[in-house]
Amino acid sequence: MIRNIFITTCVLLLFTIQAQAKIDIVHPSASQATVNAPSTYITGNTNKNATLTINSEKVKLWEGGIFVHNVPLEYGINKIKVKSVHSGIRENKVIIIKRNKPVPKAIAKAPAYKQNTTGVLYAKTINDDSTVREKPSISSQRVIDLPVNTVLYIDGQQGNYYKIQENGSSEFWIHKTNITTPVALAKRITPQIKNIKTYSDKNYDYYKFYLTYPVLYTVKQQDNSVNITMYGVKDNKGGNNYTYTLNFDKPILGYDCYYQDNNLIFRKAKLPDLYNAQPLKGIKIFVDAGHGGTEKGTIGPDRVCEKNINLDIAKNLIKMLQEAGADVSYSRITDKNAGLYERVKKAKDNNALISISIHNNSLPYGGNPYLTHGTEVHYYNENAKALAVTIKTNLAKDLNIKDNGIHKSSFAMTRQTNPVSVLVEAAYMQYPEEYIKLKNPQFRKEIAKSIKKSLEEYILTLSK
Ligand SMILES: [Zn+2]
Repeated sequence: MIRNIFITTCVLLLFTIQAQAKIDIVHPSASQATVNAPSTYITGNTNKNATLTINSEKVKLWEGGIFVHNVPLEYGINKIKVKSVHSGIRENKVIIIKRNKPVPKAIAKAPAYKQNTTGVLYAKTINDDSTVREKPSISSQRVIDLPVNTVLYIDGQQGNYYKIQENGSSEFWIHKTNITTPVALAKRITPQIKNIKTYSDKNYDYYKFYLTYPVLYTVKQQDNSVNITMYGVKDNKGGNNYTYTLNFDKPILGYDCYYQDNNLIFRKAKLPDLYNAQPLKGIKIFVDAGHGGTEKGTIGPDRVCEKNINLDIAKNLIKMLQEAGADVSYSRITDKNAGLYERVKKAKDNNALISISIHNNSLPYGGNPYLTHGTEVHYYNENAKALAVTIKTNLAKDLNIKDNGIHKSSFAMTRQTNPVSVLVEAAYMQYPEEYIKLKNPQFRKEIAKSIKKSLEEYILTLSK
């Protein structure tokens, strides 16, 4: 009996020691990865008192035994040997990474442009959000998303894209799956603006253009003015496109342009009543905690998930904003899945003036966490740039981390012009110094506090 207990204890002890020397590789997550870059990074964790080597090079273990290490990659198969030794117990792991030799890209021959020669070709959009682009390619810049039943005249075709016939300096292309099969008409029917009306409600000022039928339009914002151009609509100077310019004496907040039957509506969010002593009072703010549920986001070197860090920052921010009198809505306050467009819709349905999406950053395989880290803020539309700058500058200063700039990025959470939309990448999940801070609840509170301060500063600039 005693012998049995002794053996069991020894076995248990051995297990414990072995478990302590265990190497947990987090990145790359697959046992065999293909990385077409000169180097990649390895992240994971082991016993905090162990000695860790990767390809015989001693690797620093950070707080809690986490490691982040960059390894160079040769062409072909790379066997990366990870060794952890603790109390005489060692564990070895081998990571296999394949690096392919660059193959000279076969230059795909662009399909020839076929000009229409049979009178005028007429088509209508068949989907809402039919994207018009600058070039006949999915990677080309978006110009506008048109609603269903917008009338388009077609100039010609290149591959799967139709070129929209419009006079002007820009080109407009639309994918064939977004429009009806073009049919030939004897001549183009010129649309007209029959009337323009302006009106307001609690949240918005409206400009309604009564058109003969829905046409291609663009909206361009610069500083405090907006140009709404309706293509093919004759203006009173004999031009082929009608541009309506709105000038404001205050910065432009959220705006949308959409059709209601044949009539184009431009609506601009009203500047709410501002109280200098309590700048966030009554301000509608949407807070989005990135990822959630089965969408874990980036996984840190000891497997703390980005989704949970984002959620905690968001919950702190929601509380602070509510205490400051803001009218807050949010995508989630629990660990649940939420679709990107569901989030965007919720922000809009709540008439939010500002939308803030909270994330923490990660690197692609070829990146080096020791070189790329810090705080950054993403925006897409001009009306969000000032807010992006304010948040980024304050975060870098308040958190005492690297200022990684603002970035113009076409994300679901930044693309909409209403609300004013930014996406915050507070810090990097793969840079040990920042990751260790992110795991600290106090630091997450500091992030929320800094964002709240930026929102106050931004709102105060509007009252000037
Ligand atoms: Zn994220």
